[in-house]
Amino acid sequence: MMHVYYADANYLRFTHEATDFSPAQYYDYIIIGGGTAGCPLAATLSESYSVLLLERGRSSDTSVLYESNIFRTLTTGNDSDSPAQNFVSEDGVQHTRARILGGGSMINFGFYSRADDYFYNNAGIEWDMGAIEIAYEWVENSIVTRPARLNRWQTSLFNALLEAGVVPYNGFTFDHVRGTKVGGSTFDDYEIRHGAVELLNNANPDNLDVLVHATVDRIIFSTSNPLGT
Ligand SMILES: Cc1cc2nc3c(=O)[nH]c(=O)nc-3n(C[C@H](O)[C@H](O)[C@H](O)COP(=O)(O)OP(=O)(O)OC[C@H]3O[C@@H](n4cnc5c(N)ncnc54)[C@H](O)[C@@H]3O)c2cc1C
Repeated sequence: MMHVYYADANYLRFTHEATDFSPAQYYDYIIIGGGTAGCPLAATLSESYSVLLLERGRSSDTSVLYESNIFRTLTTGNDSDSPAQNFVSEDGVQHTRARILGGGSMINFGFYSRADDYFYNNAGIEWDMGAIEIAYEWVENSIVTRPARLNRWQTSLFNALLEAGVVPYNGFTFDHVRGTKVGGSTFDDYEIRHGAVELLNNANPDNLDVLVHATVDRIIFSTSNPLGT
């Protein structure tokens, strides 16, 4: 896998601070939230359409890239611009949500798996499975690693699952299967994170503007043509 670091990341060329940039008057699509879903969606749509991607957090943060920093990122998520934001859910559960370009993929544990067949069969959507296969391969070839080895805590969890009878052992697979398996990781073998933000490197730069520190407060729907054309 090729390692892409912030310093040589293409997406930074079309990513701007919201206060320093005047967006175009019109975009075919405006995406709110430059997270795990928003980044690949923006990159894909930009192949054929003009797109504005709005993210409330910052564009990058080197410290979140290191696997060794996972817990520090999560436990220091309290200032107004930290990549992780701690919060208490309405039912009282302490939790963390992302606030950085790349979203949850920049602060999470990096475990990667394809979706369960149950999901496809029960979502009530007629899926184009060929397109889904291509999308999976795009993501897997861009940011997912097949781990060369399990680290200490992964080995402990792996052994515990087998001892607890979570079987069969399926070996390595990206597929969602019953039992215990070794899945993909968005951390590479050098323990560096590869988040959804890197998928923006595949965007058409002429068609995409990304604004950071751009918090959306409300969406106004209009039935008239706002451009008056
Ligand atoms: C600690 C933790 C560990 C996890 N571990 C794993 C794992 O190992 N494997 C796995 O598959 N999943 C894991 N997950 C879950 C996974 O990260 C999320 O399900 C996924 O990132 C959600 O993607 P999303 O695009 O829906 O939202 P997000 O990736 O959260 O993106 C939402 C984006 O919208 C932005 N935003 C929000 N409100 C506004 C606004 N008003 N204006 C502008 N921008 C806004 C946010 O800043 C954020 O960047 C984990 C989650 C957490 C919190």
